[in-house]
Amino acid sequence: MSSGIVSRLLSSTAAAFDSRIIGQAATALTGKAAVLKNDAQESHFYPTLIDTFGRRHNYLRISLTEKCNLRCFYCMPENGVELSPKAHILADDEVIRLASLFVRRGVTKIRLTGGEPTVRKNLVELVGRLNELRALGLRSIGITSNGIALHRKLSALVDNGLTHLNLSLDTLDPQKFQLITRRTGHDAVLKSLMTSLDSPGIEAVKLNVVVMRGINEDEVLDFVGLTKELNIAVRFIEFMPFSGNKWSHNKMVPSADLLRRISERWPETEAVYPGEPNGTARMHRIPGYSGSFGFISSMSDHFCGTCNRLRITADGMIKVCLFDPKEVSLRDIMRSGGSDGDLETAIGLSVKDKKAKHAGMENIDVVHNRPMILIGESDVLGLTHMDESGKPRMVDVGGKAITSRLAVATGSIIIPAHALDLVTPHTPDLSTSSFVRRHSRCAQLAGIMAAKATSSLIPLCHPLPLTCISVNLLPVPDELKIVSEARVSCDGKTGVEMEPYCCISVAGKEMIISDIKVVHKSGGKSGDWTRPH
Ligand code: SAM
Ligand code: SF4
Repeated sequence: MSSGIVSRLLSSTAAAFDSRIIGQAATALTGKAAVLKNDAQESHFYPTLIDTFGRRHNYLRISLTEKCNLRCFYCMPENGVELSPKAHILADDEVIRLASLFVRRGVTKIRLTGGEPTVRKNLVELVGRLNELRALGLRSIGITSNGIALHRKLSALVDNGLTHLNLSLDTLDPQKFQLITRRTGHDAVLKSLMTSLDSPGIEAVKLNVVVMRGINEDEVLDFVGLTKELNIAVRFIEFMPFSGNKWSHNKMVPSADLLRRISERWPETEAVYPGEPNGTARMHRIPGYSGSFGFISSMSDHFCGTCNRLRITADGMIKVCLFDPKEVSLRDIMRSGGSDGDLETAIGLSVKDKKAKHAGMENIDVVHNRPMILIGESDVLGLTHMDESGKPRMVDVGGKAITSRLAVATGSIIIPAHALDLVTPHTPDLSTSSFVRRHSRCAQLAGIMAAKATSSLIPLCHPLPLTCISVNLLPVPDELKIVSEARVSCDGKTGVEMEPYCCISVAGKEMIISDIKVVHKSGGKSGDWTRPH
């Protein structure tokens, strides 16, 4: 057990252990049971939210934003994701209108998520407005947060009706935190944890820990140890695949393995029975400990049979399953003047279309879906770039065969209007066009030089024997931009994707480069790939 972290936790909020909180710990199960009993008693359940397998969807997760103040590598790329235009995100009134419709049709629990919900403007007021839906049958308002900013808003949120908190924290080690989230702020998350335990209005605090082989699996016993003093439910989540997050089977640690390790350390471990109806986690506890722990085994042991969740994305799409890419825009229905009846019809059709399990796909590790936050192509410090203790290392490609490889990346360079004039080919001024040619050549040369320098610019990137680099620039005058395309080939043991990235990432100070992505690659073990349009 990392005694350092526990004593820091203990000393940072001594109040968490006063008799009131310990009393709260002792009665936690009773309190939870009371909430669940209410759920079971609900009488106003409408067919709209019942699917063809008889599952009653009384739990709604609403994403309030695509933005986040962390960059967890399993969730989003280092530079963030391409955000939807602000106007596409649901306004407060639209969130409330949908929430109210769902509550009137039988939803009793709402959880706010994201992105990071605490970065949403007016979050406190929004929670206050949701709280008014209690009169219609809403029983709990929860939030899933990374805890960076939460501690500052928690007391106002609780005053406005927040009752449940899921806090995400994958490591007890501040340095590893930085490696996983690419940001600092470990202390702030701990502060949120302790502040929430000290908030009588919060009925349950759950700690979400995504377990990844070679990254934080060695901390599982430490997390379980926290439940001795803290009345928290630690939930170990199996690392899930989303387009671009470099998921692979061997990075996922099956929950059964974790339970075996925990039971070896604490043979007295017992299952909490019955668990929460519709609960995603199979919970366990160690007799005499204040809290509990469990597993969300979406990959190895799905819980689809009892799934009661529906999701609304920040841009207003209803998603009936996290793994089902199919979405219907409730926002568009609202904005085109649709009535509540129209919304209900669309919701009902989506719910009836829900598959028995994991969107009907047997093999979800190939799923191409939005991540929980939107995902882009991620070529950042992936898991293969760390050793067992989390230290950075180059991937060993020694045993791989040399193959001919090609990667193509594109990007957009937004440039000032006067510069665009110079690169527009129909200019009548010959001296200008030679100026243009010269500058295009400069840009092409700069790109080629950048591609050649990739292994020195990108940490842990292998130097590759490049065989050809070409750069094409296509002005798009109407949009004040130049579309650049870089093609780089090599005969090598590993992929050549980073080189075209670097190639199109060089620009002057007045320019904005955006939308950089690999659009095609060929060669290597994983074969050919072309980005779908
Ligand atoms: N930003 C908030 C947070 O981190 O708590 C809320 C949104 S986050 C997407 C919700 C939860 O999804 C977090 O607990 C996070 O750890 C989990 N998550 C994100 N990507 C995941 C993945 N690839 N596999 C498993 N869990 C993941
Ligand atoms: Fe942000 Fe949460 Fe995703 Fe981490 S898991 S990047 S905190 S949205």
